[in-house]
Amino acid sequence: MSAKIIDGKAIAASLRQEMTEEVAQLKKEGIVPGLAVVIVGDDPASKVYVGQKEKGCAQTGIYSEKYVLPADVSEEELLVLVNKLNVDDKINGILAQLPLPKQINEKKVLYAINPAKDVDGFHPENIGKLVIGEETFLPCTPHGIMILLERAGIDLKGKEAVVVGRSNIVGKPISLMLLSKSATVTICHSKTKDLSFHTKRADVLVAAVGKPKMIKGEMIKEGAVVIDVGVNRLENGKLAGDVDFESVSVKASAITPVPGGVGPMTITMLLKNTIKAARMQA
Ligand code: NDP
Repeated sequence: MSAKIIDGKAIAASLRQEMTEEVAQLKKEGIVPGLAVVIVGDDPASKVYVGQKEKGCAQTGIYSEKYVLPADVSEEELLVLVNKLNVDDKINGILAQLPLPKQINEKKVLYAINPAKDVDGFHPENIGKLVIGEETFLPCTPHGIMILLERAGIDLKGKEAVVVGRSNIVGKPISLMLLSKSATVTICHSKTKDLSFHTKRADVLVAAVGKPKMIKGEMIKEGAVVIDVGVNRLENGKLAGDVDFESVSVKASAITPVPGGVGPMTITMLLKNTIKAARMQA
């Protein structure tokens, strides 16, 4: 069997098309969604992500502002900016690009963002709402995964879902979202004994570890749906996921590639949350 490729690039492009039309309609009603992106220092990867976010905004008609602060900015100065953006009517969503430099307490900054403008979905109030199943801003990467599963026609009810990784931005929230769709969820991590025992039971396997090609074909069940969140830069400069595509794709029924799977969905979901924030604040 050869797996169906879940084409995140194509799904993200079609979602962005839908959003472009939605933003045009909102503008007719006098609502212009606005996103502020704050970047501190000059980490090359962060710069690339921020550039992609600006491009996504321009493409869909979302107003955006970028704030570039020097690497040695104080926590206080950054908090002053966040507080200013919290009450700025042009800005519906605020995003602090992570990681932040050492002198800044990341939590303090994330918690200072007005939860109504927390389009990354990282504020404890929004995470709490996710836990109890209330309407909220869903964190972008796991939200993107759920849309990929939905658009690929995968019914999660009663399925065994296994998530490898328990980070606050991917592993934990995707586990909750899979649970909310009535999957039976197992969360694995670095202390899990016999990882293969768990991954082999998965109807749906989500790998969010950060270890290139660690999930091999022999670790999965025939016909599993495999979502590869990993983005790892190899020595030869190429990107690799957490899943060994070659051996897994011959056993899986569906798989996301890297690049072109989960990655393109993350920023698309950020744009979606910004539009949602604009509607809610209007
Ligand atoms: P973190 O480093 O925060 O978390 C990694 C998780 O993997 C931890 O929970 C860790 O366990 C677990 N882990 C580490 N080694 C093993 C192992 N040998 N067996 C089982 N579990 C293990 O990573 P993130 O969640 O932030 O990201 C994961 C990957 O996804 C990265 O490659 C990242 O680049 C990518 N990513 C991609 C995004 C996209 O848009 N496509 C967005 C965000 C992330 P423990 O908790 O015990 O330490």
